[in-house]
Amino acid sequence: MNAEILCVGTELLLGGTVNTNATYLSKGLAAIGVSVYHHSVVGDNPQRLKDSLNLALSRADLVILTGGLGPTYDDLTKEMVAEYFHREMQLHEESLQRITEYFHKIGREMTENNKKQALMPKGAVVFQNNHGTAPGLAVEEHGKMAILLPGPPREMQPMFDEEVLPFLQKRSHVVFVSQNIHIFGMGESKVESILKPLMLESLNPTVAPYAKDGEVMLRVTASARDEQTAHAMTKPMVEKICGILGDVVYGVDIGDLQTAAVKKLKELGLKVATSESCTGGFVSKRLTEVPGSSAVFECGVCSYANRIKEQVLGVCKETLEQYGAVSRQTAQEMAQGVRKLAGADIGISTTGIAGPDGGTKEKPVGLVYVGVDSAWYSDVIELHLSRGRVNERDLIRYLAASHALDQILKACKAYEKRQGTLEPQR
Ligand code: ATP
Ligand code: MG
Repeated sequence: MNAEILCVGTELLLGGTVNTNATYLSKGLAAIGVSVYHHSVVGDNPQRLKDSLNLALSRADLVILTGGLGPTYDDLTKEMVAEYFHREMQLHEESLQRITEYFHKIGREMTENNKKQALMPKGAVVFQNNHGTAPGLAVEEHGKMAILLPGPPREMQPMFDEEVLPFLQKRSHVVFVSQNIHIFGMGESKVESILKPLMLESLNPTVAPYAKDGEVMLRVTASARDEQTAHAMTKPMVEKICGILGDVVYGVDIGDLQTAAVKKLKELGLKVATSESCTGGFVSKRLTEVPGSSAVFECGVCSYANRIKEQVLGVCKETLEQYGAVSRQTAQEMAQGVRKLAGADIGISTTGIAGPDGGTKEKPVGLVYVGVDSAWYSDVIELHLSRGRVNERDLIRYLAASHALDQILKACKAYEKRQGTLEPQR
C-alpha cells in the first residue's frame, strides 16, 4: 500500500504552524510498512482543497488528511471528501452523544455548529476522539481510501496510534518479522559504510542501524503474508551481513554482551572469574544479571587497593612498583591470579583510569587495560576510552566492562577453534 499525506490549514502555509502531523504520520506509516510518496499542504480553500484531494487520490491508495474537521465555516475537509466519494452526509448518533457528553464534562455549552462534527459521509468508519470533539473517519471505494484526522496534534496523535494504526494493520494482512544483529568492536559509521549499498538496495527486508553505548545493532525487518515467509526473508539477509562483518558480530537476537557471554560459556562448559579495578564489579554485575549465570560464573574480586591485588590475586609487588597498577603487566597478572584463585577456565581483569581525576600525560583518563587468561588464550588489550566529554566516568567504566565481556567471547571462540585438541585446564 502506498500513501500520501495531505495537511489542510492556511496557518501551515503562512508559516505560523510547523507541520508536525506529517512527520508523525510518516513515521507511524513506515513502521507498519506503508510507503509514503508525497506530503502536501493546502489552505482552507474549497477549490484548492478539492484539486489537492483529486491529485492525491489519483496517485495514492491511501490519503491521510489532517485538519479542517472542526465546527467552523472554514473547516471543510469532511465535506470535500464526501463530495469526492459521492456520499451524502448523515448524522452519526454515537458521535453526537459523545460530543454532547464532552461539552457536559468540560462544563461548556454546546453550540449548534458543534453538531456539524457529528455529521459523517454515509458508510464512513468513525474514529473516536478521546481528547477533543471532532471524530476522525475513513471512507473507501474502489481501492482508494481517505482517512481524516483532526488538526491539533494532541488529538490527532492518540487517535492515529490507538485507532488508525490497528485499523490499517488489520486490513493490510501483512506480518512483520525482525531480527537483530548485535555488533561490538566496530563503529556505526564503519558498519554503515560497509553495508551502505546493501541497505539502500534492500527494501524488503529493510536493514536499519541503531547505535547505543559503544555498540551497534542492525535490525533486519521483512514484511510478508505470514510469519514463516517473513522469517524466510530475513534469514538469508542476516547470514549475508554476518558473513560480511565477520567477528565483530557477537550474536543475533541475543540482547546484550553479557547474555551472549553466559550463553557461550554454558554451551562450552567453561567457567569464568573476574578481577576488577576500575570497573569496580561492573563486569560481574553484568554477568550475574543473566539468569543461570551461576553455572558459569565462579567469583569476582573487586581489587581496588594494590594490597588486595598483591595479597588476594598474587600480583607481584615488583610489577606494581615497576609498571604501576594501571599497566599491561598488572592486568595480565590480575587475570592469571583470579583464574588460579577461583579454579576457573577463564580469568578476566580490568585496570584503568576512569577519571575525572588521576590522569597523567603518560596515563590519561580513559586508559584501560583488559586482561584475559586461560590455558589456550591469553591477551591484554589497551583501550583509550575517553571522548573528551564531561562526566565520562560512567561511560568509561561501562565501555571497559563491555570490552571485558567481549574478551570472554574471544576466549570462547579461541576455545571452540581448538576444541577436541585441548581439554580445559584449571
Ligand atoms: P479544530 O476543531 O481545533 O478547529 P481542526 O481539525 O479543524 O480542529 P484545524 O482547524 O485545521 O484543525 O487546526 C487546528 C490547530 O491544530 C491549528 O491551529 C494548529 O495549531 C494545529 N494543527 C493543524 N494542522 C497541523 C499540522 N499539520 N501540524 C501541526 N499542527 C497542526
Ligand atoms: Mg478548525
